Formats: sequence, C-alpha cells, structure tokens
Amino acid sequence: MKPDQSSSASCEGCGTTRDLCLLLYNVRYRASQRRFCTNCVLKKHEGLFCPICFDVYDDSPPPHLRLMCHKCPSFAHRSCVVSSSGSDSTPPFYLCPPCADPKFTYFKLTSENPTVNKANGKGDKVDLVAACAQNAKGLRAIDLQSAKVLVAAARIAASSMTKAAAAARIDAERRCKEAALARKKAREALERVAYLAAKEKDAKGFST
Ligand SMILES: [Zn+2]
Ligand SMILES: [Zn+2]
Ligand SMILES: [Zn+2]
Repeated sequence: MKPDQSSSASCEGCGTTRDLCLLLYNVRYRASQRRFCTNCVLKKHEGLFCPICFDVYDDSPPPHLRLMCHKCPSFAHRSCVVSSSGSDSTPPFYLCPPCADPKFTYFKLTSENPTVNKANGKGDKVDLVAACAQNAKGLRAIDLQSAKVLVAAARIAASSMTKAAAAARIDAERRCKEAALARKKAREALERVAYLAAKEKDAKGFST
C-alpha cells in the first residue's frame, strides 16, 4: 500500500483507513459532504436504524414497539432488546450498544483481524490469506452481523446522498431563479440608464 493512497482514503470521523474498514461511504452530514467508515456512518446516524437487528427504519416503529436509549437519540425494536437481554421484560434503562460500551464498534473486521502485522517482513499477501482463513473459520453469526451492518450503513449513506441530491437540485433551481431575476434587474437598470442618457442629450439639444 502506498501511504498517500491510504491517507486520501481515510474516514473523516475516526481516521481509520479503507484497508482496515473495507469501505468508505459518502454521506451528507451537518451540511457538508463527508467520507465515513461503516462504524462512523452508523454512530453518526443513531436513530435511523435498530442497533440490534440493523434494520434501517423506513418509518419509525410506533412508540409502544420501540425503546429509546437513555443517553442518545438511538432507539431499538422493543422485541430486539428483550430477546437480546435474555429476559422476558424490558430493562428499566435501555442503553444502545455504543452508549453501553464506549469502545463498541459495529463493524468488527479490524479487531478480529490479527494479520496486519507489518513487523513480520514476509509481505502482506501471506497475512491477508491468513486473515481470510481466520475470518472464514470465525463464527457465522459474526459474518451475518457484519453483513447486516454493511447493508445498514450502505442504505443510510444512499438515502443521505439521495436527500443531498434533492436538496442540491432545489438549491440549484433557486439559484437559477435568483440569477434570472438579477439579469432582469440588470437589463432594466441598463435600459433606464440609456433612457436617462437619451433624455439628457435631448435636453442639452434643446438648451443650445
Ligand atoms: Zn470512521
Ligand atoms: Zn431490531
Ligand atoms: Zn445510545
């Protein structure tokens, strides 16, 4: 890997590089376009998906079917919280996974990938093969969860960019109208100047 490549392809949220997080998504966040890794897309859009089953909400689940995190705007399906807690009732204070554990990451490839061992001078290729073998041997549940996490992040990023495109279109149309109005005003001002100049000329013509 060339260092300049990895630095240009790093997450603007946490700085992780594309090599370590697989994907970077373009999203519209706080009025500007950013590139975020899977984790950051999800952590910065809490409230758009269930942090347990990774369903992206088309419509918010009704209040009696959801549980709001005690610390942040994230909310989960009540049924997901109940089944993941292993008890029959909902906990008195629900905390979403990142609030419950500040070190929590949605996408775990990095931490479970012991292979990026630059000290061992045998080259990355061997390490990557070992990494794939290791991942393939890993629990299926983790693979499935990683896949769901990726899909959720991709859906959130796609809808963010669709909204950004619609907003950009509205903005462009508004600017077009403003430009047309400014052109009209400029033309009127020029006509007025021409009219006044002609009038002045006529007046001078009369006086001499
Ligand atoms: Zn990130
Ligand atoms: Zn859920
Ligand atoms: Zn939370």
